[in-house]
Amino acid sequence: MAPQLDAAEELRRLREEVARHDYLYYVLAEPEISDAEYDRLFRRLKELEEAHPELYDPNSPVHRVGGAPLDAFRSVVHARRMLSLDNTYERGELLEFDRRVRKALGPGASFRYAVDPKIDGCACSLRYEEGRLVLAATRGDGVRGDDITQNARTIRDVPLRLRTKRPPQVLEVRGEVFMDKETFAAINARRVAEGEEPFMNPRNTTAGTLKLLDSRLVAARKLRFIPHGLGEVVGTAFATYTEFLDRCSVYGFRRSEHVRRCADIEEVWEFVEDFERLRDGLPYEVDGVVVRVDELELLERLGATSHHPRGMIAFKYAAEQAITRLNEVEVSVGKTGTLTPVAHLEPVRLAGTTVSRASLHNFEEVARKDIRIGDQVVVEKAGEIIPYVVRSLPERRTGSERPIAPPERCPACGTPVRKREGEVAIVCPNRSCPEVLRKVIRYYASRRAMDIDGLGEKLIDQLVDTGLVRSLGDLYRLRLEDLVGLERMGKRSGQKLLAAIERSKTRGLGRLLNALPIPHLGRSNGMDLARKAGRIEALLNASAEELERRYKLGPVVSADVAAWFADPENRALIEDLRSVGVRTDEERPPAAGGLAGKVFVITGTLPRRSREACKQAIEAAGGKVTSQVSRKTDYLVAGEKPGSKLAKAQALGVRIIDEDALDRLLAEADRPDAVGTAPGPLAGKVFVVTGTLARRSREEAKQAIEAAGGKVSSQVSRKTDYLVAGEKPGSKLAKAQALGVRVIDEEAFDRLLAGD
Ligand SMILES: [Zn+2]
Repeated sequence: MAPQLDAAEELRRLREEVARHDYLYYVLAEPEISDAEYDRLFRRLKELEEAHPELYDPNSPVHRVGGAPLDAFRSVVHARRMLSLDNTYERGELLEFDRRVRKALGPGASFRYAVDPKIDGCACSLRYEEGRLVLAATRGDGVRGDDITQNARTIRDVPLRLRTKRPPQVLEVRGEVFMDKETFAAINARRVAEGEEPFMNPRNTTAGTLKLLDSRLVAARKLRFIPHGLGEVVGTAFATYTEFLDRCSVYGFRRSEHVRRCADIEEVWEFVEDFERLRDGLPYEVDGVVVRVDELELLERLGATSHHPRGMIAFKYAAEQAITRLNEVEVSVGKTGTLTPVAHLEPVRLAGTTVSRASLHNFEEVARKDIRIGDQVVVEKAGEIIPYVVRSLPERRTGSERPIAPPERCPACGTPVRKREGEVAIVCPNRSCPEVLRKVIRYYASRRAMDIDGLGEKLIDQLVDTGLVRSLGDLYRLRLEDLVGLERMGKRSGQKLLAAIERSKTRGLGRLLNALPIPHLGRSNGMDLARKAGRIEALLNASAEELERRYKLGPVVSADVAAWFADPENRALIEDLRSVGVRTDEERPPAAGGLAGKVFVITGTLPRRSREACKQAIEAAGGKVTSQVSRKTDYLVAGEKPGSKLAKAQALGVRIIDEDALDRLLAEADRPDAVGTAPGPLAGKVFVVTGTLARRSREEAKQAIEAAGGKVSSQVSRKTDYLVAGEKPGSKLAKAQALGVRVIDEEAFDRLLAGD
């Protein structure tokens, strides 16, 4: 046998051997060999790998210790959305959940609930193709996450290959990445010994660790993984969630010993109660219990709201409280100018974290609760919620306590404060308050908003203080020479920042709405609104009523959004952002036709069309036609002699249009992107898609291209800019090559879509 083959064979055996011992040690906790023996095996494997770079395998267990640092994480689209769970703290709501599920499934449905501990970590999706780990991604916004494959490989109970001879074609295992209490304590002990600040809690530490670009550091943090859900599955099937978990443990995953199947909600409740007593003794932090319909087909049938699967809910254990001293009150200026009191506390342990600051909500509440500086106060914290001061303990006062007076001037700019109409909040009315601007930019640049990598707090302070940035639009006018003079900013980091700012232009309307300081418009509302409205023009002149009726926003949010867009300064801001090239439309337009989701009623005799022809035209553009006017009606198309429907529409405030106006609507629906929208990242580019893509159907690829401004044609020609080629591409590939058309795979396609 040639020496090369010997090495290949030895390498293969060693990889298997080391993987097996990893599994025995980390998953089963039943090691067969001593640590010294393991180290010897591992060293031999490492030597062999280094001697034979030509035999490289990303899934060799040698990479458990991490690889070369990355420059940035690639953003990836989840094959199936990663939804978060609805949650509750009350038994009553759990029973309500059960009633909803039973009602939706109908009286004949027979099912069980599966319950498992809700470990407090970070959700992550692991994608296996033919049994090999090919992708690990964070949840991100549920649609897109970060590719953290290199980091996930260092997690010892993530199998790099599934332990089976016949792996499914595709299996996405979703689960929780977390840190054991013991590991967390050890890391903190070391940090304190080295004079560093200790980390706050295991969950934050896990999240921070997963975002490290150097996977060798991640390996040292000893993260763990437990499966708790499934994404895309091809080539196998599971009847129930518990069956899926069983199979996962066969494949080499760790399995929680606390998973139960329950016959009904009462049994679920017993588990919830029992588990509360157990959880403090567990080696990891658990903040609740996840309850789900075990039968996957039923779970699928129940579907999801825009945020949560309907067949699942998380029960969270009640908040914890602690008593401590309120040392000082700081006035914090928010991104909408709101001034809020923040309590500085004597540090206290609470729900597994050290708390030294807590919210006091607003000054009116402070007065009502008679909370004073120097008071002993009760602080509460539950789950994601920021700790807050519940009440003071006046019986413990010594007489030295001082009342908390609301500020008369903004602590940042000295402008006299104002009360916002109809609200208790006190605001700084200064349009150019530097602190408001700092907060606006901080939020705008944050990961969940426009995600401008490298634009951190210190840098924002400098940009605002030097006057380089006086508005959001100024960010896009920064030049390299402006940046290079700033503290800790070299040419290279300046270029990187400018590139990150440039990339942020392509985030789309949903992220933009969230990024702008519109009061009360949260992230999910913003995303939802963007999906329905499609373009910012649709919102610029919308009344509160219209927002409420057409986009189903709540009355308070509707009023805030309408008022915000009506403000001339905000309109100027939008115009400015658009002029510098920030995208103001949404990636995912309505699926079919520009009138999708709109409800029409037709009445009277139209001049040019029969009613039937009119109906067909509306439906062809994606709209719906009903016979009765109701609150759900968007338009009444009225011809001659309209009758009683007209009166009813007027009474309900439904928009009434004639045939000419309908024609304009239909024409607009025909070319949804025609009205002054900023071009998408693929504007003007012509694509052909061929073969089978791994993560999306061809139709989905087509929609993504069109949403980003590109065009899709069916034949490769000289006009084609890109051929997106999947598996088994066929003759189009040869033609593209012959014509010199650029051929890209799905990964490169994702990068194009992301605007990179
Ligand atoms: Zn101010």
